[in-house]
Amino acid sequence: MTEKLLDKEVLMNYVNGEWIEANETTDVINPATGESIIKVPLSSQEDVDQAVKAAKAAQKEWALVPAPMRAEVLFEVGRIMKEKKEHLSKLLTMENGKVLEEARGEVQEGIDMAYYMAGEGRRLFGQTTNAELKDKFAMSVRAPIGVVGLITPWNFPIAIATWKSFPAIVAGNAVVWKPATETPLMANELMKIFIEAGLPKGVLNVVFGSGGTVGDALVNHKDIRVISFTGSNDTGRRIAAKCGEQLKKVSLEMGGKNAVTVMDDADLELAAEGIVWSAFGTSGQRCTACSRVIVHEAVKEDLEQLILKKIKELKIGNGLHDDVKVGPIINKAGLEKIKSYIKIGKDEGAKLIAGGNELTGDEYAAGLYFEPTVFTDATIDMRISQEEIFGPVVSLIPVGSFEEAIEVNNSVEYGLSSSIFTRDVNKVFKAQRDLDTGIVYVNAGTTGAEIHLPFGGTKGTGNGHRDSGVQALDVFTEWKAVYVDYSGKLQRAQIDVE
Ligand code: NAP
Repeated sequence: MTEKLLDKEVLMNYVNGEWIEANETTDVINPATGESIIKVPLSSQEDVDQAVKAAKAAQKEWALVPAPMRAEVLFEVGRIMKEKKEHLSKLLTMENGKVLEEARGEVQEGIDMAYYMAGEGRRLFGQTTNAELKDKFAMSVRAPIGVVGLITPWNFPIAIATWKSFPAIVAGNAVVWKPATETPLMANELMKIFIEAGLPKGVLNVVFGSGGTVGDALVNHKDIRVISFTGSNDTGRRIAAKCGEQLKKVSLEMGGKNAVTVMDDADLELAAEGIVWSAFGTSGQRCTACSRVIVHEAVKEDLEQLILKKIKELKIGNGLHDDVKVGPIINKAGLEKIKSYIKIGKDEGAKLIAGGNELTGDEYAAGLYFEPTVFTDATIDMRISQEEIFGPVVSLIPVGSFEEAIEVNNSVEYGLSSSIFTRDVNKVFKAQRDLDTGIVYVNAGTTGAEIHLPFGGTKGTGNGHRDSGVQALDVFTEWKAVYVDYSGKLQRAQIDVE
């Protein structure tokens, strides 16, 4: 499988229209098999400097290309991605572990984003408005910012890259992108697609390497005007502090502690299905994964039984196999973190009713696998109810009322996604108003965002920006107010008003 899908053994950076060999590399491991699938560069600060220099030069020209023409490149990117969807999906499963069906979904998200942002090339709307004075015209336009730095995580190696790079590029910026070291294949493929689509050299540059070196060099580079980051809160906080010192614009999309609320009037079968899909899909390694179930005590036991029944149907293993529903954990550190939370949950007094173990039999020996795990009778003050575990672990928290459910949902430091299962329309509308998260689902799990809506969260999940949707353009453009006075005389605003 590996030989067929990959045409080289070592990846290269792509800077100023050229593939550049690295001095130092590290192995990329398939988490399902433990095998090294390719080597990825560990680049240096000098590599970043070269990429930023190239991007700065290219951006001047790119910004002058009419936006509908810039968009033509994205239409072509979308077309090529569609053509290569199966190939991309298999590579994605190999580097990240998520099951093939989900990998296909992630690639589709990128295709959707390409067409959506290409459409923006003919919009990028500003506003025209009235001026206070006679013979004067006023408007606001979106202007590109310059060179933007993108730092992306391993859990959605292509979708998140498209959420950021497509709006940045269509808006007339140039990009230096540092993908996660764990998942560089998607970056390599997307770069090749952009080249085939005819993107001019220097507009998109990929520099592989560690966050501590390459990521930090991007954050600190004086010619990078915007950083768009998705990843953990610890890293995001550090990046935000550094950007703050430089007065650099920074967009942060970080962790979640997402909950499904199940009221006593809910369709329990549907709720259990939604919980199992959003808690154990991608082995719980989604920022929007359901890791808490806030359940009305009247239906708690029935819901538990339904969840347990559905978990038994989940086959765990290598995501390239069609019948597998839950893939591996990305790396040893991720696995150890999950294991530590199982102990924390038990010590805190939550009741473990399913899973809780690493899978170690012959079938699983080479990879990193963890059982879908369910705690019940958790309380909101427990660490398993508050902290992001990033694995296939969900905790049921019983509550006595709708009001208590909303309070429990909102009493975590994160605010990414939430969901409620109920048949009561009044509760639906109250919930969408009162749930303090950037994304709210009704009668569906906590995952499944569509690219033409804003993606991001409140409180500790972000800093007020959004990926995807038309809102993503706000990250990568400056608003410029333009006044055109055609009176032929000096007119003073606020003073010469009749
Ligand atoms: P991470 O460790 O913070 O890494 C994210 C990216 O930041 C990687 O490319 C990493 O590089 C880089 N990085 C690490 N240290 C850095 C530094 N000091 N300066 C600059 N860049 C640095 O996060 P992760 O474990 O990959 O991702 C999982 C987290 O992402 C979870 O918390 C999840 O909730 C969050 N997430 C959020 C969203 C959202 O939209 N809200 C979406 C997906 C994931 P290397 O890894 O290559 O060293």
